[in-house]
Amino acid sequence: MFTADRIARRVEELGAQIERDYEGKELVLLGVLKGSYIFISDLARAIDLPLSIDFIGLSSYGEATESSGVVKITSDLTRPIERKHVVIVEDIVDTGLTMRYLLDNMATRRPASVKLCTLLHKPSRARTRIPIDYLGFEIEDRFVVGYGLDANDKYRNVPFIGVLRHG
Ligand code: 5GP
Repeated sequence: MFTADRIARRVEELGAQIERDYEGKELVLLGVLKGSYIFISDLARAIDLPLSIDFIGLSSYGEATESSGVVKITSDLTRPIERKHVVIVEDIVDTGLTMRYLLDNMATRRPASVKLCTLLHKPSRARTRIPIDYLGFEIEDRFVVGYGLDANDKYRNVPFIGVLRHG
């Protein structure tokens, strides 16, 4: 679906956009594990600002490929985000239920601001309106893997993004 080159070019553009918007502010990039680990490492290097990086681990109860909206924090931030400007870095917003939970949870921690940067978005699957501030690519309803995205914890290291073909 997207070659490594195409992803790299888009990530550079997103980084430049974030760099312009956060100049002079205390920026925290908050990666959602595990899917965003490659995206956040490339994105961070495309932002020439003294930012900090933290991670949150989330898991959704229910089927592996379908979000239930019932989310568990499996590992929490290492530092408070009070009065910091947070950009959540996510691999994909599908139904939006995971992000709804995370945005509500982050709001209780009194950050100066929270914005969302997601590499991929499947608008046809949305079940709640999630404001996306920085978007890599909009995609159709296909199950994709690679560049951090998994199927049963495999394919995360594939350097491009592809559609998983069964059989
Ligand atoms: P949501 O709560 O928005 O439905 O689900 C978000 C999570 O579901 C993503 O962070 C990701 O882990 C998983 N997910 C949704 N669509 C895909 C997909 O096409 N491929 C992969 N690998 N994971 C997906």
